[in-house]
Amino acid sequence: MSHNNRVSVLDNGYVRLVDVMGSDLTVVNSARCSYAKESAELSERDIRLIKFLAREQHTSPFRHAIAQFEIYAPLMVARQWWKYIVGSAHQEGTGDSLDAWNESSRRYVTEEPTFYIPQADEWRSAPENSKQGSGEPVDTSVGDELVERLKFYVAHGMYLYEEALGAGVCPEQARLFLPAYGMYVRWYWTASLQSIAHFLAQRLEHDAQVEIQAYAKAILALIEPRFPVAIGELIPEKEDE
Ligand SMILES: Cc1cc2nc3c(=O)[nH]c(=O)nc-3n(C[C@H](O)[C@H](O)[C@H](O)COP(=O)(O)OP(=O)(O)OC[C@H]3O[C@@H](n4cnc5c(N)ncnc54)[C@H](O)[C@@H]3O)c2cc1C
Repeated sequence: MSHNNRVSVLDNGYVRLVDVMGSDLTVVNSARCSYAKESAELSERDIRLIKFLAREQHTSPFRHAIAQFEIYAPLMVARQWWKYIVGSAHQEGTGDSLDAWNESSRRYVTEEPTFYIPQADEWRSAPENSKQGSGEPVDTSVGDELVERLKFYVAHGMYLYEEALGAGVCPEQARLFLPAYGMYVRWYWTASLQSIAHFLAQRLEHDAQVEIQAYAKAILALIEPRFPVAIGELIPEKEDE
């Protein structure tokens, strides 16, 4: 569901487009800089230039456009996302000036933990092809049982967490009791258009985990209207859903 610049994902997550620097014109004008030319409006000629740049992988003009997102996702998704370090860098010493990953950590805040609990019909079987992360849905009677078990597990972790806090333990250690993979974390992700397209090209694919695919679809829904030509060329086969 899309609301303004926010798209809901999974049971409690979302992606919000916080800020955007640039448009399709930014790509064109960055490329034309070497000819000391600038367009005020996107022309057919400009569109052809973007197509050419994308096709020939002249990627630097796509790095002058930047977008910032706020993401609320289970830790297992954040862990996969964190691997995109070029053009959305968050590691010192990469030589990339976009030091742009800020996450709520539960060291300082004790905001109510939220967990991802798939619905009964959302549990997937082990795949037949080992390169695929998961296969067909499992029977919903099995799914019903798994939902109950996961809720129980989360509640037990929460109980132990609160007991530890109650015993005066600091939040940064008490969080050891929280079931981490499904716990929602929130972070800001700032990335160049090229880096976003790279993320989308990989994570919209059927071999990406279904949960991160859902986030990639949300990113696509938010970014495509802002860069319709560039996104259309960089990931032409992707359909917004
Ligand atoms: C389906 C799937 C399964 C995965 N499974 C695993 C897994 O089991 N374990 C795991 O650890 N990771 C896994 N990954 C993550 C994967 O290995 C990448 O780390 C992640 O997809 C980020 O892509 P990237 O490295 O291309 O991104 P970035 O680090 O952002 O790099 C972007 C691009 O920059 C270029 N680049 C980056 N570094 C260099 C360099 N040093 N020299 C030259 N060019 C460079 C490359 O063209 C690269 O594609 C998986 C990814 C997918 C999509």
